[in-house]
Amino acid sequence: MNKPLILAMEDDAPIRNLIVTTLKTNDYRYRTATNGGQAILEASTHSPDTVLLDLGLPDMDGIEVIRNIRSWSNMLIIVISARNEDQDKIEALDAGADDYLTKPFSVEELLARIRTTQRRLSFMSSEMLTAGSVFENGKLRVDYASGCATLDGQELHLTPIEFKLLCLLSKNVGKVLTHTFITQNIWGQSWDSNMASLRVFMATLRKKLEPTPDSPQYIQTHIGVGYRMVRVE
Ligand code: CA
Repeated sequence: MNKPLILAMEDDAPIRNLIVTTLKTNDYRYRTATNGGQAILEASTHSPDTVLLDLGLPDMDGIEVIRNIRSWSNMLIIVISARNEDQDKIEALDAGADDYLTKPFSVEELLARIRTTQRRLSFMSSEMLTAGSVFENGKLRVDYASGCATLDGQELHLTPIEFKLLCLLSKNVGKVLTHTFITQNIWGQSWDSNMASLRVFMATLRKKLEPTPDSPQYIQTHIGVGYRMVRVE
């Protein structure tokens, strides 16, 4: 089977070379772009599986590139940003990016991110094939249609909000969801009071879902950004 095709958009030559060397060494097929316009053109011409997108571009805002690609494709987008501010990551994730890497990053981290997002892609396609309304991850089973969730065969007694939260996270397994995205989907708005409620509901959901709530297995916290449900082997 062909290794995924990766489009690396990075205007900084040394970093682009590092990414290309890493992809080559690991037998990924790849294309490169050095500005936003070229990235959009390459993405539409070659339909890569994953785009590695630097947010600081010479010709346009990286967020605009994400919005453009998202308007016509579900391809995976991993944002690479030198900017440490959470706000940039949050904006990129809300615009449709799947994950993010902060510069400087290690080669191992880059490869891990590519693998994680690819798993999300294969999950999405297997879900489409079965077209079922049941989600399974490790010992967790969510039956969307009947509104019931079980862990290791035991029913989880969830409140309606907790169940909604679990559905949102599981339907986006592998993807980092921002606080704003979650509160908008659960409550329809994103107010500060909802942010506080989200923390409370997340804590009660974890108490029921995670065997050891202090070291969660299913739901990762991204401090200052949001939450992600991870694939459990
Ligand atoms: Ca740059």
